[in-house]
Amino acid sequence: MFTKILIANRGEIACRVITTARKLGILTVAVHSDADVDAQHVALADEAVHIGPPAVAESYLRGDRIIKAALETGAEAIHPGYGFLSENPDFVDAVTAAGLVFIGPSASAIRAMGLKDAAKALMVEAGVPVVPGYHGDSQDADFLAQEADKIGYPVLIKARAGGGGKGMRLVEDPADFKAALAGAQREGQASFGDPVCLIEKYITQPRHIEIQIFGDSHGNVLHMFERDCSLQRRHQKVIEEAPAPEMPEQVREAMGRAAVEAAMAIQYTGAGTVEFIVDGSGPLREDGFWFMEMNTRLQVEHPVSEAITGLDFVELQLRVAFGDPLPMTQQDLSINGWSFEARLYAEDVPKGFLPATGILEHLVFPAAAAFELGSIRVDSGVVCGDEISPWYDPMIAKIIVHGPTRATALNTLSQALARTEIAGLTTNHTFLRRLARHPSFAQGKLDTGLIAREAQGLIPAPVPCTRSRSLAALAALGLDSDLPELAGYAHWAPVEHPVRLVWADESLQAKVWLSGNARHVTVDGVTHVLQPAGDHGDQTDRWWIDGTLVRARVQRMGRRVSVFWGNGYHFDSPDPLAVQDDHAGGDVISAPMPGLVKLVSATAGADVMKGDALLVLEAMKMEHTLVAPRDGVVSEVLTAVGDQVTDGTVLLTLLPVEDPKAVS
Ligand code: ADP
Ligand code: ADP
Ligand code: MG
Repeated sequence: MFTKILIANRGEIACRVITTARKLGILTVAVHSDADVDAQHVALADEAVHIGPPAVAESYLRGDRIIKAALETGAEAIHPGYGFLSENPDFVDAVTAAGLVFIGPSASAIRAMGLKDAAKALMVEAGVPVVPGYHGDSQDADFLAQEADKIGYPVLIKARAGGGGKGMRLVEDPADFKAALAGAQREGQASFGDPVCLIEKYITQPRHIEIQIFGDSHGNVLHMFERDCSLQRRHQKVIEEAPAPEMPEQVREAMGRAAVEAAMAIQYTGAGTVEFIVDGSGPLREDGFWFMEMNTRLQVEHPVSEAITGLDFVELQLRVAFGDPLPMTQQDLSINGWSFEARLYAEDVPKGFLPATGILEHLVFPAAAAFELGSIRVDSGVVCGDEISPWYDPMIAKIIVHGPTRATALNTLSQALARTEIAGLTTNHTFLRRLARHPSFAQGKLDTGLIAREAQGLIPAPVPCTRSRSLAALAALGLDSDLPELAGYAHWAPVEHPVRLVWADESLQAKVWLSGNARHVTVDGVTHVLQPAGDHGDQTDRWWIDGTLVRARVQRMGRRVSVFWGNGYHFDSPDPLAVQDDHAGGDVISAPMPGLVKLVSATAGADVMKGDALLVLEAMKMEHTLVAPRDGVVSEVLTAVGDQVTDGTVLLTLLPVEDPKAVS
């Protein structure tokens, strides 16, 4: 086996490869850009080499620098992960020429499958069913329009070099054909440097079912069954599962066989995926699936197949790249249970799934195995405090679950998502939670159009109910922990405390008062009684709300409050001092909230300038400095260090100004 490998990637997939390498006692070398000095894949690796500035073209796509890093660190092989250089045959040639091993298929296998048109032609030869259509050389618009007529509408135009759902146009009306063709060609040129397009019959009510395959250098090719990736948004996968719902055994065998034949036809080695489009308008049929393309690498969604087969695909990749034969036969493989993967992204779902950026100010995953098989597995390359930057893929994590049945696994997915807490940036978390609970999905009735059809129910941001708002109000006041910590608030008991919260663009006004261990909160005209359950202090994830025990948690981060109750709701609690601005320029400095006087820096008779610090109040576990609202002279100091003061207590006065116009 190799003793040291370099991972030419970043993020979760680099971390995932490192985990298996470590398990096998293999040393790892990471490469990183300027933006990734502190990234997890660098932290996890045994060594790390800097390869350039943040832009991928100057770093993760610089094959020359990566090969140099491998040679300099004594790595024997390069694992490309997915994306970046993983399907670049010139990189494979360069790696091999440098005397290193590429952990993946040969350059010729990648070339054979690299362009969708050539791949389809090859598959026709190998006897694999392909989607009817035109994948010849001509790019003449009139000719292609005739071909589209022959195929019959609707048709799909695809850039042959396309990937990730880019460079595709669905055409339903022949009148739109030429404009759509020009669009697909432009996108192909812009994104992949190749305008050539092919035309396919658009399969209506399609399912995307793909077969995981593995080849070794001894001529063996096996398949590890199917994944259903039909839950897509604009041709991009959102939740994947294995096996596929309602898959008859004969169809599974036929698809597995076709995938193995496809791989055999190009002497495929390593991990690969053969993607099929499947007629999902009725029960799956042996004559109802067609080759779409082959991805010559490890796929993002590989963990669901690992979960149902019990295999570690990165380990298999390493073994076959080293030259070992696959350590099993097709008969040794079987499906155990069901698995789902949800892709958690930093993206703004209501704003058209726009990629989002920001700092992961709070990040908690459910109790899970990281990169290892388990009922909940989380594959992630980020930790709390990391930034999702505009430079790279905005994926935060893959939440993977495994259970004995589809229903159990799907429930586990919902639970795992509900226990995932993220604050600081916008994510698709709620969208995933809704999808996981969607009735059609739960019944296994899926096709690639499901998300678009059901968008109305899946996309809008959830609105926090008054109970969630009440929790936020308590958190804003620091009243989210247990009684012992409440001691300092004893003087609060009889008084009603106002709290201002901002959620989205909505300004909320709540009132809080205490009686015994109970916190009463009135918001939007409704009063709730809340008590933290158990004695976990800040960590409590159980609340009694109006006599019902619920699983919810709150988290304060500076002036922001998040309520995690299945969904995450994020509030701003504006500085109460800002409210004091109303009195700016006045003579009286009063406590804007209840608190403890920590410091008094003003003395009677002293000249002060607007903005000078007068005293410091500690409230809500934070210090607040009260400053002079105007230039003037301190007339009286009415408080001393150590005083517990209530909201509105006058702390200090300034000598009145005779001529208000003299106030600066
Ligand atoms: P990419 O390289 O972008 O992954 P694919 O050819 O794999 O492109 O297609 C991406 C997705 O587009 C598929 O998963 C499927 O949802 C949809 N699609 C592709 N071809 C067809 C087709 N002929 N009919 C219907 N949907 C299709
Ligand atoms: P879990 O999967 O951990 O049970 P859920 O999101 O399913 O978490 O929430 C558990 C229960 O709490 C459900 O009955 C749900 O309807 C309810 N719930 C979750 N969030 C809220 C909320 N913001 N307001 C009211 N009820 C909620
Ligand atoms: Mg594809």
